[in-house]
Amino acid sequence: MPLVKELAKEGEISMYIIMLGAPGTGKGTIGNEICKHYNLMHIATGDIFRAEIKNQTELGKKANEYISKGQLVPDDVTIAMCESYLDKSDNVLLDGFPRTIHQAEALKEYLANKGKSVTAVIDLNVPDEDIVVRTSSRIICSNKECGAVFNTVFMKPKVEGICDVCGSKLIKRPDDNPDTIRKRLETYHKQTEPLIEFYEKEGLLEKIDINIYSETTKEDTTRKSVEKIDARLSD
Ligand code: AMP
Repeated sequence: MPLVKELAKEGEISMYIIMLGAPGTGKGTIGNEICKHYNLMHIATGDIFRAEIKNQTELGKKANEYISKGQLVPDDVTIAMCESYLDKSDNVLLDGFPRTIHQAEALKEYLANKGKSVTAVIDLNVPDEDIVVRTSSRIICSNKECGAVFNTVFMKPKVEGICDVCGSKLIKRPDDNPDTIRKRLETYHKQTEPLIEFYEKEGLLEKIDINIYSETTKEDTTRKSVEKIDARLSD
């Protein structure tokens, strides 16, 4: 008999992993590693919005009104966009969604209608002061197909300003300036933190404390996340 986790990797069973955590806790970086491990589709709502903004679509223009101020894009817009991606696969990692209780309830209902449910919620925990330091020095790949994330202090690229993965230019996110970061943290504590209690009550929460100053943060956090997901798949 193949192990349940092997079936998950081969897409034989459905998997819905949610990455929770404030901006700058590494949801994208760790989420990417988890996706590679289980062969999941990575749905990163922030990345999708940034691509829409770059392409100057109607959705992008609307999203930018909120993103540039460190606010959340309205629930109706975000839920519809996210569901259009969820329609494509039963093996996904959600990075940046849900961010409000309303979004979490909409996701629960959407999955229940498909006869599915969330597998695990990985909550990345980093103190606010560390987040401001890490996010102020974050740089991302300008190639939206790649989306790799680096840091000028903690995770330097091999060649300055150039993406290790695809060779494109590395850029700063416009909303990664200290003022907008503080605003985004405020938004997180007010609107997204209640999700911790929501998913705790659902029995799905897996909390991971992160030390951003450790050289093996990425590897340690990925290993801990995979261990927690594996344990749930084997239950
Ligand atoms: P991120 O890259 O996840 O930090 O997202 C960047 C910005 O996109 C956020 O600060 C929000 O303005 C917006 N955004 C991303 N995901 C959501 C969501 N689930 N709900 C509302 N706004 C979102």
